[in-house]
Amino acid sequence: MLADKDRIFTNLYGMFDRSLAGARSRGCWDGTAGIIGRGRDKIIEEMKASGLRGRGGAGFPTGLKWSFMPKQSDGRPHYLVVNADESEPGTCKDREIMRHDPHTLIEGCLIASFAMGANAAYIYLRGEYIREREALQIAVDEAYDAGLLGRNAAGSGWDFDLYLHHGAGAYICGEETALIESLEGRKGMPRLKPPFPANTGLYGAPTTVNNVESIAVAPTILRRGAAWFSSMGRPNNVGTKVFAISGHVNRPCVVEEAMSIPLRELLEKHCGGVRGGWQNLKAVIPGGSSVPLLPAAVCGEAIMDFDWLREQRSGLGTAAVIVMDQSTDIIKAIWRLSKFYKHESCGQCTPCREGTGWMMRVMERLVTGEADPAEIDMLLDVTKQVEGHTICALGDAAAWPIQGLIRHCRGEIEDRIKAKRTGRVSAVAAE
Ligand code: SF4
Repeated sequence: MLADKDRIFTNLYGMFDRSLAGARSRGCWDGTAGIIGRGRDKIIEEMKASGLRGRGGAGFPTGLKWSFMPKQSDGRPHYLVVNADESEPGTCKDREIMRHDPHTLIEGCLIASFAMGANAAYIYLRGEYIREREALQIAVDEAYDAGLLGRNAAGSGWDFDLYLHHGAGAYICGEETALIESLEGRKGMPRLKPPFPANTGLYGAPTTVNNVESIAVAPTILRRGAAWFSSMGRPNNVGTKVFAISGHVNRPCVVEEAMSIPLRELLEKHCGGVRGGWQNLKAVIPGGSSVPLLPAAVCGEAIMDFDWLREQRSGLGTAAVIVMDQSTDIIKAIWRLSKFYKHESCGQCTPCREGTGWMMRVMERLVTGEADPAEIDMLLDVTKQVEGHTICALGDAAAWPIQGLIRHCRGEIEDRIKAKRTGRVSAVAAE
């Protein structure tokens, strides 16, 4: 279990003063100019050495991503864009950082921007995060007034401006290139890559898009050192991680823990355990709605990190843990996700536009049991045709939960179809 002294977000629950004075008393903005004084290369080397992997879902090494930005400007400005769109169902970790510990993020924006040669950064918030934007704007204003942002930010010699941008509430704007489109004032539709944002991003200039948590942990990593951060967790899966646990646990919560914590420990220490006891567990979606579920049989040994979950053909994703007990109609739960992805498809590419609707409609029939058993394999086949054949990852996100369902719960699906045919009432869909 993570020791209190190793927590980065010490006001995650809003129990203390979130103003600049409060943040300073917890160590924020301590020696910021000194960190910047180390220079771009040293900061990026330290971030690489820390082993931090992006906290938005993909788990790409953050320091490496920063190093992709051009070393010298070719005349174009550089930008940092912080992805605070947080729209993945089940995911609600970044909002706690923004509303209760906003200065961790603001200081991180300054340091990260300096490391990438950016004099401006944008934080793109999802449309529904109104209170979060208000809290963040208050903190940004405070930082300007205290000389921590603006000209010669924090006395570092670096000029830096930070802007908040409020989205209109579309899931697809969490995809980095759709986010950039939206920020530029257009419809949030993903761009084809390449070119990658580090070459041609916001307003055609080199841009890095990072998740809120990835940026907010950077100042503490640079203050306490890469060795400290990388001492937690397992090799290649290190540091602390903010988990958001929802569903059938006794106390749903958002908590910062050490990476690679066993799932059972996470649920029992912080959430009061599974509703009705561990034996009542049916399945867990470990990383937000886009990753395949883990059946109860493997949950007992599950380790919450990128590599272990990938080996199980699932993923850590955003570390939004959705717990489902035996009362769950698992087919209906996954159908609901299919409906979500169908609704959120931007419609640009055919496999996603047509496939998400197609998959949702078959899922509908699986929920009621009115499908033909052969449709299960046909559905699986369609998910394979969508996966990897689209411009952005939304197609994969729509396909994977269904693949997980069929992989682990095929018996339940078949039983429901059989029950429908014979009129048996025990296995029909829950209302
Ligand atoms: Fe749009 Fe879906 Fe294609 Fe992504 S995969 S670009 S959401 S149609």
